[in-house]
Amino acid sequence: MPLDAFARFPLLFGPSPIHPLERLSRHLGGARIWAKREDCNSGLAFGGNKTRKLEYLLPDALAQGADTLVSIGGVQSNHTRQVAAVAARAGLKAVLVQESWVDWPDPVNDRVGNILLSRIMGAEVRLVPAEFGIGFKESWRQALADVRAAGGVPYPIPAGASDHPLGGLGFAAWAHEVQQQERELGVFFDTIVVCSVTGSTQAGMIAGFAGQERPRRVLGIDASATIDQTRAQVEKIARNTAGLVDLGRELRDDEITVLPGWAGERYGIPVRSTLDAIRLAGSLEGMIVDPVYEGKSMAALIDLVRDGDIPRDSTVLYAHLGGQPALNAYSALFR
Ligand code: PLP
Repeated sequence: MPLDAFARFPLLFGPSPIHPLERLSRHLGGARIWAKREDCNSGLAFGGNKTRKLEYLLPDALAQGADTLVSIGGVQSNHTRQVAAVAARAGLKAVLVQESWVDWPDPVNDRVGNILLSRIMGAEVRLVPAEFGIGFKESWRQALADVRAAGGVPYPIPAGASDHPLGGLGFAAWAHEVQQQERELGVFFDTIVVCSVTGSTQAGMIAGFAGQERPRRVLGIDASATIDQTRAQVEKIARNTAGLVDLGRELRDDEITVLPGWAGERYGIPVRSTLDAIRLAGSLEGMIVDPVYEGKSMAALIDLVRDGDIPRDSTVLYAHLGGQPALNAYSALFR
């Protein structure tokens, strides 16, 4: 059915802001670079891309009579923090499995930033030792079983709200929002740069843009050094979402692009290019990006523009997906 026929629980302020990054564009010597800001898309605990996805999952949870949102991520997961905020906003409980996905030695890693905010919002936070993985984990199944055993009705939300039938809808709607804003601003973004980890952000965009007349490139940037897995997940969710919103054709392989090269060796660990990108975006634009996700996609944007892979006459939209609270666990990098 068409996208606007799906139930949506409004959580955002409205369309997220779009603005030019003039000093960064000038510094790189070409391409007009703009940003669309999911980090300030709502008043819910610093916002982010998951808040937009959850607008489509929440009505499903409420329709099922759920009283507890159950989800999973790393200790500094932005996703679980947004689940906590959305649960608070909807009057539900939240149980959050926080796995030790990142071997990061910061002594306050499990006390500051995202996890601190989730605790403030009243979520039950469970710290579980386990490695990075975006699949369905035992710890998550256990949390669901525990809620049921206590007489509650859990609503399962997988990592990143991605591998869920409705996970791609939020960013399919984002694609329509971009088109609307382009009309108002009199611009056309021929290239979108977006960070990809659990996949439904980029996948939703691909499905949404595929229904528009004018083609454009959606460049996903791998931030977890698991390129094959990420690409497969993006493809699966993009195809599912395209079917859900009645695209009316199969997506072509060339519409699904995830680029390796900026993740370093592991999820959650920034590399030199990440730190340079964080400093550049901060010092030229006052725009803060994080060391886990957006710093890596910003590093990619910088290289792709500087090296001419994104042509000088291009107009580029950098999807800023949020994530700044995690910076609190990375203070040692900026002393
Ligand atoms: N950027 C930020 C700040 C995130 O929290 C995430 C979440 O994983 C991503 C990018 C990647 O989005 P996705 O998991 O939908 O691929």
